[in-house]
Parts: sequence; structure tokens; C-alpha cells
Amino acid sequence: MSAHILKCAECGKYTLKEVCSCGGKAVSARPPKYSPEDKYGEYRRAVKKEELEKKRLL
Ligand SMILES: [Zn+2]
Repeated sequence: MSAHILKCAECGKYTLKEVCSCGGKAVSARPPKYSPEDKYGEYRRAVKKEELEKKRLL
């Protein structure tokens, strides 16, 4: 069984989940590669963060 290690782009923690406990987006623990998709990732991260804040309110 080979776990795919991801690293949070927000706090730098290593995790196995795509979304870190801090709400940040976890990416492959390889050197970051800049691409146009990063902009969408940032947008999605903002949406996810909003989602988490809503869950806390419930
Ligand atoms: Zn994090």
C-alpha cells in the first residue's frame, strides 16, 4: 500500500487528504509547478474555506 503524501499549500503540513484541516488545499509534495490552473485552485480554495466556515456555524 503506497500512500500518496500531499502537502498543504497554506500551512505546510503533510496530509493524505486533498483538503487540509486548516482548510487549505493540499498538493503533491513535489516542488510546486506554476500553471494557469493555480488561479482556479485559489478560487476553489476560497470556496472550500467558506464551506468550512458554514459547517462551523451549523
Ligand atoms: Zn493546512
